[in-house]
Amino acid sequence: MADQEKKPVDTAAIAGMLKKKEPEMKRILNYCVHCSICAESCFLYMAHNGDPQYMPSFKVINSLGKLYKKKGNVDRKFLEGIKGLVWGNCALCHRCYCPIGIDIPRMIDFTRSICRSEGVYPQQDGGESWL
Ligand code: SF4
Ligand code: SF4
Repeated sequence: MADQEKKPVDTAAIAGMLKKKEPEMKRILNYCVHCSICAESCFLYMAHNGDPQYMPSFKVINSLGKLYKKKGNVDRKFLEGIKGLVWGNCALCHRCYCPIGIDIPRMIDFTRSICRSEGVYPQQDGGESWL
């Protein structure tokens, strides 16, 4: 196991990152009316026969949404658990359409940067298969 993987998560640093973008991100999260219109414009959702794990809003609510809910007080297992959602299940292609203008890739990108700050990201030699 790499040293980085054993390091405890810096929850204060995560909380700080979340706080910095809180007004913008929380507003967006609260605007989502769960209409699922974004789903059909996501090629990964369509390519996976409507698997909800690929639904744009699902990916955000179950990663960034949970980070805000827990106020950044998460452990490495949590971050490893959302890694697949924010890297494997989204290509940041910006094709998803939301009628009220919610910018899904922007939120997924922000979640990636939080994971990355703790060394949680796909490893080239880790044998992980993405997309
Ligand atoms: S289309 Fe917009 S409002 Fe509807 S579920 Fe997707 S992100 Fe939420
Ligand atoms: S940015 Fe992500 S959620 Fe949006 S269409 Fe592309 S793969 Fe789907």
